[in-house]
Amino acid sequence: MDQITHWINGAPDISKPNRTGDIYNPATGKCTKSVAFADAATIDRAVDAATVAFTTWRHSSLTRRTQVLFAFRELMQQNKEKIAALITDEHGKVLSDAAGEVTRGLEVVEFACGIPHLLKGAFSEEVSSGVDVYSIRQGIGPVAIISPFNFPAMVPMWFFPVAIACGNTVVLKPSEKDPSASMFMAQLWRQAGLPQGVFNVVHGDKEAVDALLVHPGIKSISFVGSTAIARYVYETGTQAGKRVQALGGAKNHMVVLPDADLELAADAAVNAGFGSAGERCMAISVIVAVEPIGNALVARIKSRMANIKIGDGSQNPDMGPLVTAAHRDKVASYIAAGAQEGATLVVDGRELKIAGDGFFLGPTLLDHITPEMSVYNDEIFGPVLSVIRVNSYDEALALVNGHQYGNGTAIFTNDGGAARRYQNEVEVGMVGINVPIPVPMAYYSFGGWKNSLFGDSHAHGIEGVHFFTRGKVVTSRWLDPSHGGINLGFPQND
Ligand code: NAD
Repeated sequence: MDQITHWINGAPDISKPNRTGDIYNPATGKCTKSVAFADAATIDRAVDAATVAFTTWRHSSLTRRTQVLFAFRELMQQNKEKIAALITDEHGKVLSDAAGEVTRGLEVVEFACGIPHLLKGAFSEEVSSGVDVYSIRQGIGPVAIISPFNFPAMVPMWFFPVAIACGNTVVLKPSEKDPSASMFMAQLWRQAGLPQGVFNVVHGDKEAVDALLVHPGIKSISFVGSTAIARYVYETGTQAGKRVQALGGAKNHMVVLPDADLELAADAAVNAGFGSAGERCMAISVIVAVEPIGNALVARIKSRMANIKIGDGSQNPDMGPLVTAAHRDKVASYIAAGAQEGATLVVDGRELKIAGDGFFLGPTLLDHITPEMSVYNDEIFGPVLSVIRVNSYDEALALVNGHQYGNGTAIFTNDGGAARRYQNEVEVGMVGINVPIPVPMAYYSFGGWKNSLFGDSHAHGIEGVHFFTRGKVVTSRWLDPSHGGINLGFPQND
């Protein structure tokens, strides 16, 4: 069985771990690998390596940083299929989807290649007689990234290319369920010429995270995961004096107005609801059907669901298994709860039969759900699409704005005025207009509102650059014989 260990100071860590975790292939249900879990002493070693590396990496020229980023980008591109295979093996998502997440992550590397431009400050000449003022942005030190299971390559890449480009060093703690992609990327960084200690990977669970959250050597925390843990990470990290961005869970609504193209809307609902088995923070999980189109839309979604091919992700079906048996069972329990609370079970994914012990669950469609039901209030994070019916745009908007989550949302309509009004009025961080999964490009920033994000900075884009740097303003005057003499007054400009 493969043993996965930490990556510290440019090499695999050879110390014997006190604790380990099991890694499964979700398509077979078999335990295939074991991963070392870091304790506080291991975290200390990783942070020490990052601290030493920071003293030189922060002085690396922008040209050198860009060259390393370009080389890393090329290596990632060449190895995309291998990374996708590792992801499918541990996460379960289909191969093409796994390759797609690598591509979206690479867009952040490409964005970070523009770091010489992104770090440009401002310069004002002669703000006072003989005095100039300019601003600079500098890296903050060793930073920690803690990521979830559902995008083992892309979510870490939302942060580390920008962090490294800004002159910081990184300690990444990926999900213990699918850590191999991070290890592969660590090796590619070394091949790309990144100095040792700039990019470190530690594995583990709460013990490792807790050690990072309070470690005095760590200057910021970038966390992505479920809302309860995101809140905890934000509170603990900020209490320890760190800059924290903690992205949490989601419940993304897709509003379908009566004038929408229902074929387009049904395709979008199925693709965005069941892609990656619904284990995406931007997955659509609630369809808000503005009557009278409810019946027509549900019929179209149902007929499409019959054609979804489910199987081992390495064979590239439409949908793979869920990540663990426990998660599959939790999602199935929501289907039972929905039916018990009065929803109409149009398609029941629990009826799917696939030979073997894989963690499969078929796509499910629940109709006539109401705001009091647990299937509406909670994030399910599986292949379950719920339909809630309302009678007006205003009712739809009130529903979305009343929800605890505000990550993504979409509106389907042919009425530009209605779409524009929605974009303006909805209390959600990322909005799609006839686009069901509106994940922003790397040069914009990714992040939700309300319980979907704790902290002030979204990921990547210019907000990412600001998160990973501190601003400094310099006021300078070069000696001029005319500016001599004693003056104890507060500096004033003339
Ligand atoms: P999770 O919260 O269980 O785990 C996330 C990270 O936190 C992992 O690295 C894990 O090891 C660590 N962790 C788990 N329990 C912890 C604890 N008690 N204390 C400290 N650290 C702990 O999330 P997950 O199941 O891996 O991922 C799915 C969740 O992530 C969903 O809620 C999904 O919506 C969310 N997510 C959000 C976004 C976003 O951009 N908002 C993106 C992807 C995923």
